[in-house]
Amino acid sequence: MGTMASIIVYCPPDTAEALLEGAERLVHDLDRRLSVYDDHGLGRLNRLGRASLDDEHLRAVVTASDSLQRITGGAFDPTAGGLVRLWGFPASPALPAREDIDSVLAITGWERMVSLSSDSIALAPGAMVDFGAAAKGYAADLAYAALMERGASAALVEIGGEVRCGSRPGFAKVWTVGIRHPRDGGLLDTVRVEQGALATSGDYECFFIDSAGRRLSHIIDPSSGYPAQGAVSASVLAGSCLVADAVATALVIGGWELADSLPEGLVRAILIVEGDDDGIRVGRSGEWQESPNG
Ligand code: AMP
Ligand code: MG
Repeated sequence: MGTMASIIVYCPPDTAEALLEGAERLVHDLDRRLSVYDDHGLGRLNRLGRASLDDEHLRAVVTASDSLQRITGGAFDPTAGGLVRLWGFPASPALPAREDIDSVLAITGWERMVSLSSDSIALAPGAMVDFGAAAKGYAADLAYAALMERGASAALVEIGGEVRCGSRPGFAKVWTVGIRHPRDGGLLDTVRVEQGALATSGDYECFFIDSAGRRLSHIIDPSSGYPAQGAVSASVLAGSCLVADAVATALVIGGWELADSLPEGLVRAILIVEGDDDGIRVGRSGEWQESPNG
């Protein structure tokens, strides 16, 4: 996934090392299966154009992506992977030629380019998928579940800024999670989470400034082929980190218009930062509207 992770666990001291090692192994294994940077699960699917869904993790992420791309009106779309590559993210981003954007747009679009059966996924010629917008969340969900199953009293797993945390009934740990200010790098807000997931996406994570002074980030709008312009950043609180992660990325493209169209109950709260380099505006919905600081 090309990112950093951190884990906090409450447990008897003599079990800490085994718990942390197990979680680390799990995250590395998921990274190998779900990262475009590797030639195992996903790298192989992109090279061969098809893969069996025997791998439970690939199957889980593919199935969730299928419904999340529909729910987000196509803003979250793993087939944007071809566009991400064309724009040169993350290593060497640069403005592509218009005709190159058009030719990659022709091989972008989950509904058109991906065929799913109960046990396999196939890509139309030329298409590629990138689960970078949801895999960190999925891995955080699984690492959290594994820590709790193996006896932790409370745990927080953070992968590339996506957080899953909670505690056993009775332990009642309340986690305070910070949301980064998308421009000055300081703290924008803090949120108290007992049980759940908090994901943030934004135009500050990986971007370049073009010759016209526009900030162009690694979140690409699959309908235009250009970097997202819907929001500076979006944070999502949900029960599942996979959902929070995918929806946060989609909201950087679709902004409040998309947020308002999401099905009731999919997420618990949304915070969207809008504006430009001259100033920002923060809007909140759901649980954060009533009590922004938890
Ligand atoms: P995140 O940090 O969760 O917002 O994910 C950003 C990553 O998701 C990018 O680096 C790309 O690999 C991928 N990506 C970019 N645009 C999209 C999109 N519209 N839908 C799904 N994944 C995307
Ligand atoms: Mg995401």
